[in-house]
Amino acid sequence: MRMELHILGTSSSRPAHGREVSGSVVICNGKTILVDCGEGLQSRLLAHSSILKANNWQHRIAHTRIDAMLFTHGHLDHTWGAMPMLQSMALDDRRRELTLAAPIHEDAYSALLKDGYSAKMPDTVAGVDMIQQLRMWWKLWIEKIEQVIFPIEWYVVSWLKGKESWLELRPHENSVIELDSSPQIFAGINISPHPTTHSVPSCAWRISQADRPGRFDGQRAGELGLSNQEIAQLAGGKDLEKDGQTLLSEQFRGDDRSGLSLLISGDTGAEAPGLVALSADKPLNLMVHEATYVDEQEEHARNYLHSTARDAGTAATTADAAHLVLTHYSSRLSESETSLNQARQVHRAVCCAEDGDIFIISEGGEVQLFRHHEGELNEIPAPFAD
Ligand SMILES: [Zn+2]
Repeated sequence: MRMELHILGTSSSRPAHGREVSGSVVICNGKTILVDCGEGLQSRLLAHSSILKANNWQHRIAHTRIDAMLFTHGHLDHTWGAMPMLQSMALDDRRRELTLAAPIHEDAYSALLKDGYSAKMPDTVAGVDMIQQLRMWWKLWIEKIEQVIFPIEWYVVSWLKGKESWLELRPHENSVIELDSSPQIFAGINISPHPTTHSVPSCAWRISQADRPGRFDGQRAGELGLSNQEIAQLAGGKDLEKDGQTLLSEQFRGDDRSGLSLLISGDTGAEAPGLVALSADKPLNLMVHEATYVDEQEEHARNYLHSTARDAGTAATTADAAHLVLTHYSSRLSESETSLNQARQVHRAVCCAEDGDIFIISEGGEVQLFRHHEGELNEIPAPFAD
């Protein structure tokens, strides 16, 4: 099954040059997952949805369909649109569960674990840390009408002495629960955070389909003269006794088929440890990496813990990502050609995202790009080619 990525904002910090701030939608195994939710994302979703409808796109995207919201970090260009969207979900009388997940400072984690959901935060925890914002969303709005709104699973993650650690927040009980392992948010989908380097706790989110068993070799089963019932038994994973012999189901299957996988970096300086470690994992079909600056602004990138386009290329090469999509451009950049050229010097398959771009990863791992122009969606030929 294919994966879809809709990039709805490619600007860093603030809207500029017709670009809006961060927010992306991933459609994976029928689930709609929002990664970051900057200012005004609701309006953008509506506009994008109209374009999809007018172009007979297979999937619709609307806030009503969102199953999970993942946040890469607490800077407001990544979170400011979330609370109004949550409110719209409640106004729409949503009943379906929603999952929220975000990284928090390790001192915030320790405080929550010790003193519960309402723990006083130490000074090391920034005002925009995701724990502060999650609690604010709850306090400003949800607390008052929680009994009538949809259920929300609230998860926060931190890296205590380098170890990925998860808490479930239970605001209505004023408590938290520490999890033994990462939460399995959806069956058949692996969602994992990878720490990145930024001025507040931050992570990339990787979204992968679980591996599937290899294809069943029906032809071979047929050649052995098996009945349909016997073939169905083998295909269903059960061994078969036939003429005194045991036919093993697994011998009629090819190798496991690797699920598709993409990663969205969030904001990060160069050489984030969590991204460097990725290559040891399963293959990454697509990496979306911030490219706030170009070579000429490298000093800014180092000072503000952002990446240049070249850094993004290096990160994707190190992680062995098959395709790299650049995003999160500084308002100082009015064009993307320079970014593209510099990233291409270090990675073989790079593309610069524009607002509204739709990337499709096919079952075989090929990536297509659909871009809209005056309301019309068109496929861009060979978007990653030199
Ligand atoms: Zn940002």
